[in-house]
Amino acid sequence: MNLLQQHQTQSVTVVGGGVAGMSAACALAEAGFRVQLVERRGYLGGRASSYLHPGIGEVIDNCQHVLFGCCTNLIGFYKRIGVEDKIQWTREMTMIEPGGRRSVLGPSWLPAPLHGVQKLLAARAFSPADKLALAKAFQALMHPVPQNSSESLAAWLQRNGQTTGAIERFWRLVIASALNADLDCIALPYAAKVIRELFMNSPEAGSMGMSSVPLSDLYEGAAKYLSAMNGIVLLNVSVDAATWDNEASRWTLSTGDGIIHSDFLVIALPFEATGKLIASIPPAEGASALSAQIARHRHWPICSVHLWFDREITDLPHAVLLDREIHWMYNKSRLQPWRQLKGSYLELVVSTSRSFAALPREQAIDQALRELKEFFPEVAVAKLEKAALIKEVRATFGVPPGIDSARPSAVSPWPNCFLAGDWVATGWPSTMESAARSGHLAAEALTSATGSPQTFLLPDLEPTGFMRWFKI
Ligand SMILES: Cc1cc2nc3c(=O)[nH]c(=O)nc-3n(C[C@H](O)[C@H](O)[C@H](O)COP(=O)(O)OP(=O)(O)OC[C@H]3O[C@@H](n4cnc5c(N)ncnc54)[C@H](O)[C@@H]3O)c2cc1C
Repeated sequence: MNLLQQHQTQSVTVVGGGVAGMSAACALAEAGFRVQLVERRGYLGGRASSYLHPGIGEVIDNCQHVLFGCCTNLIGFYKRIGVEDKIQWTREMTMIEPGGRRSVLGPSWLPAPLHGVQKLLAARAFSPADKLALAKAFQALMHPVPQNSSESLAAWLQRNGQTTGAIERFWRLVIASALNADLDCIALPYAAKVIRELFMNSPEAGSMGMSSVPLSDLYEGAAKYLSAMNGIVLLNVSVDAATWDNEASRWTLSTGDGIIHSDFLVIALPFEATGKLIASIPPAEGASALSAQIARHRHWPICSVHLWFDREITDLPHAVLLDREIHWMYNKSRLQPWRQLKGSYLELVVSTSRSFAALPREQAIDQALRELKEFFPEVAVAKLEKAALIKEVRATFGVPPGIDSARPSAVSPWPNCFLAGDWVATGWPSTMESAARSGHLAAEALTSATGSPQTFLLPDLEPTGFMRWFKI
C-alpha cells in the first residue's frame, strides 16, 4: 500500500470551518487523508466571513480583513485553493487628518529598512520631533526583542522617548489597532514583530492585501478543493462532545445531527469554544493545564460601520483616519467594483474600542457619520441610503506580556487529537495568518503522529536590503 492509499483509509474530522480549520483540512486532504470539515454555521470562514445582511439586503463581510505580504501561510492556503488572484495588493497607506490634509506612507527605491523613510519624512501628519522619535524607535527594533520579554509596548514607548504625536498617530493608530488592544496590553515582542514585518523587513512583506470578493466567496475554493480530494464539508453541524475509544482507536463525535466516527480529530476552534468542547472529553494527563491556559485568554472587540451613500465620497480605496474613534476607511465600491453601485459603499472600522462597542446602533452610526464628515466634506451633502453596524465583541484575542505561556502547541493531551486556531502557539497575533499557520502546524503534528511526517508550514519571507543582516 502506498502512502496515499494508506492515508485514504484513515479519516480526519476537523471541527471548525474558520481559516484554521480550512487550512488544516486542505493540507490533510492533500496528504491523502479522508477529511471531513464540520462547521456550526451555514457558511465557512468563522471570524473572517461574509453573509447576506438581512436588514439591508447586501452581502457584507463581518469586517474588512486585510493581510500583508508577510502572511506566507495564508497566501499559501489561498494558493492551494486557487483564489490568490482574488486578492488585490497595495503598498501605500494614506493617512488623513480631520480637515482633510493627507500624508502617504509607503516604500521608495531605498533598501530595507530605509524604504519607508522618504515618505515618512514627507508626511505632514508627523512633526519633526515625531519623525525623529519614530526613526529612533525603528532603529532600536532592528535588534531582536527577546521573545520572553515581559515589557508592554506602552512601557517601551515611554522608555524610548516617543512623542505624543508618534504615539497617538502611529503606535496607537497603526500598531495597537493592528493588534487590537490598548498599548499597555500589548507584549513588546508582538509589537516588534508587526513593525519589522510591515515596515522594516522588505516592501513586499509590508504590502497590504484585500479581497476583491466577499470573504466567504474565497472559501468556495476550499469546499471545491476538499470535494475534489474526496473530502466533505458539513455545514450547520455543531460538535457538542467527543470521546476517544481506546480499543477501536477512534474518536466519536456527538453532533445535533448524529454521531461521527473518525481516526483523527483536529479541534480548530476559538479558545472558549475549545474549552467547552474539551470539557466533554474524559480527562487525560495535561488536560487541566490546557484548560488553565485557555482561562488566561481574553477577547477584544472590533466594530464596523457600513454606509451606503447616493454618491461618491472619495476616490481613495482606503485610508487611515487620524485623531478620531473611526480608524480605517475602506471604499468597498472601489475595492469591489463588481458591486456596480450607483452611489458608493464605505466601511469604517473601529478597533480597540470597548466604548464604541457599547454604543447603541443609532448613536454609533451618528458618531461615525459626524467624524467621517471631518475627513470627507462630501458626506455633508450626500444622502445616506442605508447603514449597518456590526459589533464583533469577540474579534481577536489579546497578546499581553506573558501570553505565550498560555498558547498550547498543536499536540493535545489526547491521542490522535490536535489543536488549531489563531490562539495556539504560532508566534503571531490574532490574525488570519496565525490561523493558517496553526492549521498547517496541526497537519504537521498529525502526519508526524502517523509516522510519516510532512511539512506544511511555509517559511517567512526573507528580509531584503540591510535587514538581511538583522534577521531574527
Ligand atoms: C471584526 C474582525 C476584524 C478582523 N480583522 C482582521 C484583519 O484585518 N486581518 C487579519 O488577519 N485578521 C483579522 N481578524 C482576526 C481573524 O478574523 C481571526 O484571527 C481568524 O479568522 C481566526 O480564525 P480561526 O479559524 O482560528 O477561528 P474562527 O474564525 O473563529 O473559526 C472557528 C469556527 O468554528 C466554528 N465553531 C465554533 N464552535 C463549533 C462547534 N462546536 N462545532 C463546529 N463548529 C464550531 C465557528 O462557527 C467558526 O466558523 C479580525 C477578526 C474580526 C472578528
